Amino acid sequence: MYLTVHGTTAMLIARSVPNPFVAFLLALASHFVLDFIPHGDEHLLKAHFTRGQTARRMFGAASLDGLILLGFVAIFLWVGPTVNTSTFIWSLIGALLPDVLQGIYFATETKWLKPFQNFHLGIHNASNHPLNWHQGMLVQCLVLTAVWLFSIF
Ligand SMILES: [Zn+2]
Repeated sequence: MYLTVHGTTAMLIARSVPNPFVAFLLALASHFVLDFIPHGDEHLLKAHFTRGQTARRMFGAASLDGLILLGFVAIFLWVGPTVNTSTFIWSLIGALLPDVLQGIYFATETKWLKPFQNFHLGIHNASNHPLNWHQGMLVQCLVLTAVWLFSIF
């Protein structure tokens, strides 16, 4: 799913779990639970793309997505519940870490990240229910709305 959905889930976890370490672990686990839900991200990656094309597409999507997430973070910190700063940061790190590692893998094809990348993509494809972009956006918007509302109220 998009970084915005993962990051917003981190906000929900941070407000629910005061311990930074537990929040990190739950946020990390939440990443894979959310990625298991069919969400139509498959169009970002095509087998025939070169490494450079893949890296540029991922960077382009992640840049816009990251800016939107920053907006959600700002609004959460402005109007949301009071959360422990350390818990908030560690929850965000846990929720976003898998996609950061994926980005590093796409940019560098570092061998030690290959098993993790296979695991990450395996979870993405585990449901074997590919969606088109419109269906995927609908799913992600619905999940984002639900998580956002639980995060701030
Ligand atoms: Zn992911």
